[in-house]
Amino acid sequence: MNTTWKDDTVTLARSVNAVRFDAEKARADFPALHQDVHGQRLVYLDSAASTQKPQVVIDTLSEFYSRQYSNVHRGVHHLSQIATDLYEGARSTVRSFLNARHDEEIVFVRGTTEAINLVAQTFGRSEIGPGDEVIVSEMEHHANIVPWQMICQEKGAQLRVIPIDANGDLQLDHFEEMITPRTKIVAVTHVSNALGTVNPVREIIRIAHAYNVPVLLDGAQSSQHLPIDVQELDCDFFTLSGHKIYGPTGIGVLYGKRELLERMPPYQGGGDMILSVTFEKTTYNEIPYKFEAGTPNIAGAIGLAAALKYFRGFDIDALVAHEKELLDYATGRLEDIDALRMIGTARERASSLSFTLCAVHPHDIGTILDKQGIAIRAGHHCAQPVMQKFGIPATARASFAMYNTREDVDRLVEGIKQVLEVFT
Ligand code: PLP
Repeated sequence: MNTTWKDDTVTLARSVNAVRFDAEKARADFPALHQDVHGQRLVYLDSAASTQKPQVVIDTLSEFYSRQYSNVHRGVHHLSQIATDLYEGARSTVRSFLNARHDEEIVFVRGTTEAINLVAQTFGRSEIGPGDEVIVSEMEHHANIVPWQMICQEKGAQLRVIPIDANGDLQLDHFEEMITPRTKIVAVTHVSNALGTVNPVREIIRIAHAYNVPVLLDGAQSSQHLPIDVQELDCDFFTLSGHKIYGPTGIGVLYGKRELLERMPPYQGGGDMILSVTFEKTTYNEIPYKFEAGTPNIAGAIGLAAALKYFRGFDIDALVAHEKELLDYATGRLEDIDALRMIGTARERASSLSFTLCAVHPHDIGTILDKQGIAIRAGHHCAQPVMQKFGIPATARASFAMYNTREDVDRLVEGIKQVLEVFT
């Protein structure tokens, strides 16, 4: 059963009573997890960077390239029609996954980065002028900072930043004061990749809409951990990356409300995004094709649809409960390590744990853990302003997905103890 996401806190609480999620059963679906690395069973704790792929996604891609492959749209032959049906069917699958109202509100892009650049370069180019303002938060991934900085610089507009507190929670009381008649868009992450913070996005959207300001939610870290309903959220734009939700790389989604997408100028020019071309004048295609110039990532979209169908085959309450239980267990075990400093202790968190370990550089933590077959990520996680906020250059980050278990956490804890032994 899939539930509708009402409120992040309510769902996280309700998930406690959900049926038990069988992580071992899910694990069995992911061939990459069944291998040894440096002589030990692989423990994959880097899913916030990219998730592993279930067999059904691999098989779908293989079947598409083996028997169904052709370019899409305008083809009169059999294979082109099959490929077109699969590609447009994938769009419907995404629409249903996000509970968008219309298929045309789903634009296929390369990933969240391209989705945000698209909005900045089209909505931004047409709606932002000198002296206008764009609001982001201090915990954004660079993908939700730099595209806005670029358009603000070009237009003489100003980027304003909602601060975070020492726990990694947004200081929401500052937010409403920041909105002015010059605010053109608010762009915030739903879940932080560097801190794991789950933002109070309904409140942000409610406040912004009270001033008629549209809101873009960066869903790169939320779509695989929380139920998403764009109508219920009432966000104006939502983005996701296929590779972070068990799908292929190079494919992602921009959801936009129809009236906004229709108003926006095209992104890139080329084939498919036009209705007619002469040297004097081009007439653009309708949405979503207006934003999909050139041959799209056909296989990627079809693979993404397979991933979303796979994901929706699980009880979402049970999945949320499983990941929350794992995060709580890992938090408790890591907090027992004296030398460890947790970076990000927000009220609501999902999926990721960032930490530092005395003076050990996070890259050394990552390298020593790797020698034990444990994959984590070390660095600034493309969120340098977050690192600056906490006065550190980098963190080590362990991130969880449906296939992780308590045993993985125990291996991580033992691994960290070995790191400490090396450095003391
Ligand atoms: N936003 C957030 C919060 C992310 O975590 C990421 C990737 O880690 C991105 C945006 C960029 O996603 P992609 O590299 O798939 O475009």
